[in-house]
Amino acid sequence: MIDQATIDRIMDAAQIVDVVSEFVTLRKRGVNYVGLCPFHSEKTPSFSVSPSKGVCKCFSCGKGGNVVHFIMEHEQLSYYEALKWLAHKYNIEVKERELTDEEKHAQSIRESMFVVNEYARDYFQNILRSHVEGQTVGMTYFRQRGFRDDIITKFQLGYCLKGYRPEYLVKTGLCYARDDGSLRDRFWGRVIFPVHTLSGKVVAFGGRVLKTDAKTAKYVNSPESEIYHKSNELYGIYFAKQSIVKQDRCFLVEGYTDVISMHQSGIENVVASSGTSLTPGQIRLIHRFTNNITVLYDGDMAGIKASLRGIDMLLEEGMNIKVVLLPDGDDPDSFARKHNATDYQAYINAHEVDFIRFKTNLLLDDAGNDPIKRAGLITDIVRSISVIPDAIVRSVYIKECSQLLQVEEKLLIAEVGKLKEVQLEKEYKAQRNAQIQAQRAAGE
Ligand code: ZN
Repeated sequence: MIDQATIDRIMDAAQIVDVVSEFVTLRKRGVNYVGLCPFHSEKTPSFSVSPSKGVCKCFSCGKGGNVVHFIMEHEQLSYYEALKWLAHKYNIEVKERELTDEEKHAQSIRESMFVVNEYARDYFQNILRSHVEGQTVGMTYFRQRGFRDDIITKFQLGYCLKGYRPEYLVKTGLCYARDDGSLRDRFWGRVIFPVHTLSGKVVAFGGRVLKTDAKTAKYVNSPESEIYHKSNELYGIYFAKQSIVKQDRCFLVEGYTDVISMHQSGIENVVASSGTSLTPGQIRLIHRFTNNITVLYDGDMAGIKASLRGIDMLLEEGMNIKVVLLPDGDDPDSFARKHNATDYQAYINAHEVDFIRFKTNLLLDDAGNDPIKRAGLITDIVRSISVIPDAIVRSVYIKECSQLLQVEEKLLIAEVGKLKEVQLEKEYKAQRNAQIQAQRAAGE
């Protein structure tokens, strides 16, 4: 919490032209300033800043507001974080509310863990660059992958040697205890990919093994901890958020190297679910920045089918989902190494397919003329359509799928209606239960 007096001081000190200029090149026009809007792509400036009123506004996309709103939007921060950002810029000391002992304790554990992770990140980076093994094993691997120096630095990649043991290592998962009580390095002999939160803090690491004969898992990741909840993090979101807002689209891929290679080729609005299927927390994280997701697939049909259910959750959130199938033998990583951003984008534009259409065609191919399989497929597609919140979008899909599946529209409408009813019933029951519990709690 920041007290009102401090907020007033921050607002007095912060000059809108000064703050916006950190991110946008402004030109004076009359009493105002104009520049290219940082929130959407444009060629002629429609972003206007009024120093007298202390506000900015884009006349094309409508985004803007006072200094705090601008920082919140541009840096994707909360109101409180934006105030702290401004306080830092203007050297204003922020006095925060006293924490309770319990809060202090929790905070000090979390802070220590972040400190350990940051220390470890710097250490891994340093080993990669200055230790013989880091150079010959780790750096050689990254070079083979074609990663440029600036990209290795940007993503804070590193290498882990054996023998590293300060405190908190077990808690953060950098080490684990064996049955006899001795500690083992989790990431020994692996190249290191730090996992960043939305605000750029290191919460976890992914380590990739380099020995080809190794009998261990190809990737190991930090376990869950006080600061790392896997289901709430997306790899690359810290580096992608601004570009996602600007492009109003997020590319979804599977692995660390997919994200990094796409960045290197110039496509920055990309995040990875890190091999697991999407969780509601991850979906909300993307939804904060855009409504539009494009999932990039390699040709692995088993993998695609396994991911279909996760995508239904995106539909449920009311997001627009497209799918791109990469050419046979390519994944997002290898394709990025062969193509620059313009060509990559051109391929995506030419091959982007709506998700429901993609899923319908995929399952149709599978079912062939088998009537039982076809019936199952219709049920499956109907389920996907029924979770879409918008009734108009649902009816558009019903129309299209009736043609693709050669099933009467009326029948699909009836089936979607049935499922919708079941869903509403469930929601109604959940609400009733919540009410009853609230009443009970109030009565006690
Ligand atoms: Zn704009």
